[in-house]
Amino acid sequence: MAKASHAAAPAKGLFYDPARRGYATVYRENEPNHCPGCGRTHWLVGRVTAECGFCETALPLASATSQGMRGLFRGHRPIAA
Ligand SMILES: [Zn+2]
Repeated sequence: MAKASHAAAPAKGLFYDPARRGYATVYRENEPNHCPGCGRTHWLVGRVTAECGFCETALPLASATSQGMRGLFRGHRPIAA
């Protein structure tokens, strides 16, 4: 007898498994952030990313990723006639 598949699993290729995404490092504001490249803590912080001042490793800001890409793009506005 065949083993029953998981009832909640969607069609093959559309399943999202966070465990397969891997390890994601982010820069957290107001916390000590050690660079994954060199271990130092001097950062140049932008609107979306922070860059290590020594080895130029760039990390996404945790606050920017929690908001998604909402702040980067504007919607389409019709041209006034
Ligand atoms: Zn570094």
